[in-house]
Amino acid sequence: MSDIIQLLPDHVANQIAAGEVVQRPASVVKELLENAIDAGATSIKLLLKDAGKTLIQVIDDGKGMSTTDARLCFERHATSKIRDAQDLFNLNTKGFRGEALASIAAIAHVELKTKQENEELGTLIKIEGSKVTSQEVVSTSKGTSIAVKNLFYNIPARRNFLKSDTIETRHIIDEFQRVALAHPAISFLLHHNDNEVYHLKSSNLRKRIVAIFGGKMNEKLVPIDEQTDILSIKGFVAKPAFAKRKRGEQFFFVNDRFIKSAYLNHAVVNAFDGLLESGSHPSYFLYLTVPASSIDINIHPTKTEIKFDNEKALYAILRATVKHSLGQYNVAPVLDFNR
Ligand code: ADP
Ligand code: MG
Repeated sequence: MSDIIQLLPDHVANQIAAGEVVQRPASVVKELLENAIDAGATSIKLLLKDAGKTLIQVIDDGKGMSTTDARLCFERHATSKIRDAQDLFNLNTKGFRGEALASIAAIAHVELKTKQENEELGTLIKIEGSKVTSQEVVSTSKGTSIAVKNLFYNIPARRNFLKSDTIETRHIIDEFQRVALAHPAISFLLHHNDNEVYHLKSSNLRKRIVAIFGGKMNEKLVPIDEQTDILSIKGFVAKPAFAKRKRGEQFFFVNDRFIKSAYLNHAVVNAFDGLLESGSHPSYFLYLTVPASSIDINIHPTKTEIKFDNEKALYAILRATVKHSLGQYNVAPVLDFNR
């Protein structure tokens, strides 16, 4: 008899896991921005070089990490956000898998600088391919800066698969916009190759939407505000006259997390019934708040799909709410006499 099974070393396991979590620079951006938000940041900077292929850096003014935690955060399944499986059904943070930093550190050069509020000095750790290469005590301000350099440096196949800078930047901006829309009170800065792309000041939702999508958006927005015993819905839909040929500005947030849902999209489109020209898509920014225990977020590594306990009821309420709001704003139907 000969035994042939071995446990994979951590750095190999991390690299495999990274394949799921990190598809492209935009995936890193999403994870780092979400960590900054979970850390309670009020101001977040995102600095990019070459569409994130050379550098992705996120600087926050959140709670920072202790020296021990700064080391531990790169271990797989290392998280401060849940303690046991039960917590999965009552999540109030974006993160919980404890996988992102371990995955990122397995496939890039990472520099982490962090300091907690009450500490005199902070910690600087450099790590490459899951191996810590240096650790120093440094003076720095409260919060965390994570710089991710040379993504996929050790996976040439992945690196070669990346699209043009224009396309990768588009993906990053999509992630950035989703996070910025979910958190209008937080200020965000985005620089790409030393040019300022966004400078979003702390504001309310309407102003944040306008800051991102331009002043013309303001007159298009119909407010939505409904509270029932199983959910609240807030946000805006754009008036039907501004519906687009291209599926563009369609955003659902559930408990401040951007999600994709063909089902809920259908409910909204359905509410516009008769008001849209065929083949056009309404813009919307809809924020659903439901009890954390009524959703399951742990069905996909990137967490953009979630399961609802009571999907049918949500559909009905969403449809009715949007319909009612459109009616209140007295939007004239687009009449198509050729049909
Ligand atoms: P998760 O977010 O699922 O917990 P991550 O790998 O993204 O897993 O992060 C691991 C841990 O590192 C977090 O639980 C948190 O304690 C800490 N951490 C990561 N980023 C930050 C940050 N920007 N500020 C403070 N702590 C952070
Ligand atoms: Mg995280």
